[in-house]
Amino acid sequence: MTQINVQPGIMEIALYQGGQSALAGVTEVVKLSSNENPYGPSEATKAAFAQSGLALHRYPGTDHAGLRAAIAEVHGLDAERIVCGVGSDEVLQFVAQSFAGPGDEIIYTEHGFSMYPILAHACGATPVKVAEKERVVDVDAILAACNAKTRIVFIANPGNPTATMLAADEVARLADGLPASALLVLDGAYAEFVEGYDGGAALVEARSNVIMTRTFSKIYGLGGLRIGWGYAPKEVIDVLNRVRQPFNLSDVQLQTAEAAVRDQEFMRWCRSENTRLGAWLSEALRAAGVEVDESFTNFILARFASPEEADSCDEALKAEGILVRKVGGYGLPNCLRITIGDERACRRVAHTVKQFKRVEA
Ligand SMILES: *Cc1c(COP(=O)(O)O)cnc(C)c1O
Repeated sequence: MTQINVQPGIMEIALYQGGQSALAGVTEVVKLSSNENPYGPSEATKAAFAQSGLALHRYPGTDHAGLRAAIAEVHGLDAERIVCGVGSDEVLQFVAQSFAGPGDEIIYTEHGFSMYPILAHACGATPVKVAEKERVVDVDAILAACNAKTRIVFIANPGNPTATMLAADEVARLADGLPASALLVLDGAYAEFVEGYDGGAALVEARSNVIMTRTFSKIYGLGGLRIGWGYAPKEVIDVLNRVRQPFNLSDVQLQTAEAAVRDQEFMRWCRSENTRLGAWLSEALRAAGVEVDESFTNFILARFASPEEADSCDEALKAEGILVRKVGGYGLPNCLRITIGDERACRRVAHTVKQFKRVEA
């Protein structure tokens, strides 16, 4: 009989739970469970997508030069230090696979993105969860958890599902305090939602131990197409490119993403709508008696008095065809994560939560 051995860590993986997208019996669902752009990609991006599918018999390029050049130009970065992946999740996977293995530790935080422990287990490393302080990453707690086995520290800034942000000087202090064996990964999936924030790019350029990841899935409205990128010191990029499959991205992905990043006017419009509606919805929820931290992202973390109240509000929203995200798995059982949708969606959420709190009172 064959003896099949699974590699260390893999059976520890708890499968990632995506946001719910359908409700039985409801045809017009308002999906606010996956932090997607409610407007979809820009017109220029859709046109590039339509145009890009005309040579499906050809293999794509392997060096992603066009997309890297576009990203570098738009963000003022060095194209040689950019790597592109199937979503930023794949870039995070390259990092874990390249720099950690059995016996090593990967640090993530209490309410950190659930992909981090999955990636740690997948490469056989040990995920180490560190407490946050009032839903904000705690630099001292991370530094205290570091030791000679620490290889990677994953933090999302701004954070998901907390929507909070760590100040630039705190992030620099974290990078400076890490052991020489460890890399700091700054997951910038929501960086574009903060005007004037570079996602940590300057820190990458000033240090040898910092990696930034970015995505086309959120503000650019391309979650369905799977494109992300990373920015890191050249020596790190050289390592990541060895584990990256040569044809990881199709021409459809590459050309569509290039058009997306070049359409900064659309990006800015999405950001300003998100800021305007996020502020409005946060106020509306607070007025209804729900606690909300300031959001630096395209979602709001609504805090209820108890897990039961959060569950009942989730049911009330579902009854109106509105899908949000339960975040008990992130150590936040009394919270709901609500993506900031378009104006109509925000009004529907505010109305439903207000009604819910009124009936409950
Ligand atoms: C959405 C998200 C990502 C992006 O994932 P993609 O693979 O690029 O779609 C990464 N990190 C965090 C924290 C996210 O919320």
